Amino acid sequence: MPRTSRWTGDPVWIADVLRAEGVDLVEYPGWRGRGHGDFEDIRGVMVHHTGSDYATAASIANGRPDLDGPLSQLHIARDGTVTVVAAGVAWHAGVGMYPWLPTNMGNWHLIGIECANSGTSISAPHRRSWPDAQYLALVRCCAALNRRLGQTSSRTIGHKEYAGRAQGKWDPGAIDMDTLRADIEARIGTITDTAPTPRPPVPVGGYADVLMFRGVEGPQVAELQRRLKYAYASYAGDLVVDGVYGPQTEAAVREFQRRTAGLKVDGIVGPATAAALRLTIVTPAALPDSRAV
Ligand SMILES: [Zn+2]
Repeated sequence: MPRTSRWTGDPVWIADVLRAEGVDLVEYPGWRGRGHGDFEDIRGVMVHHTGSDYATAASIANGRPDLDGPLSQLHIARDGTVTVVAAGVAWHAGVGMYPWLPTNMGNWHLIGIECANSGTSISAPHRRSWPDAQYLALVRCCAALNRRLGQTSSRTIGHKEYAGRAQGKWDPGAIDMDTLRADIEARIGTITDTAPTPRPPVPVGGYADVLMFRGVEGPQVAELQRRLKYAYASYAGDLVVDGVYGPQTEAAVREFQRRTAGLKVDGIVGPATAAALRLTIVTPAALPDSRAV
């Protein structure tokens, strides 16, 4: 793809370009006509977190009492669903500066992406509490937009890089922008894989009888705790392997479910969750109260 074109005006092509990238896209009613006037030349993409894991696309389209929407062109939910809410200028960048932008004029030159995410904290490591589906959708969106605009991933920046902490901006939290840009650049170069990558099938058969939830005890619970603790140390590393399905175990199970496409987030380990965990099944004979003979 040529990287020399220069787009001026509203990105009316945004839905088509994202869909072609394999993004799960929703078109918010009226998006083509929504905006605070028309774009100047679009120089790049700016990434944000909403500050809440549950902020909706409607809240980005409609804005807040103190700030009229749209607040961005795109919204990405935690399940990876991308909603285009506006084609015109949105109030997302505010005051700030960056080498290839006119000072305080980011809104007229950047496509904004608001991700439904709390951001965790200023010092959180890369992708802490960013579900795979949401992060992958973000990479795809940025890659598709940068590619369409004839840009490299250097044209995707974070709000924190433009406004910075001086303005109290640290979004997107738990995103290392250089790592994100490397992932986007790899994606920009990948033009043959335009379909979503399906989750590898896992056989549920051997897990048909698994059912563990808060209050359950025994060696199978201990095996579950071991699996979470060592395979998912980033959020389950502190788990105590005591064979008791308590609040900590439930929280780790929920986190695993949140991060795994296709699982219901209920804190209960049934066949699907056990299969996704590739949990080792403890034989019934090993259970202390087993009635197996
Ligand atoms: Zn922001």
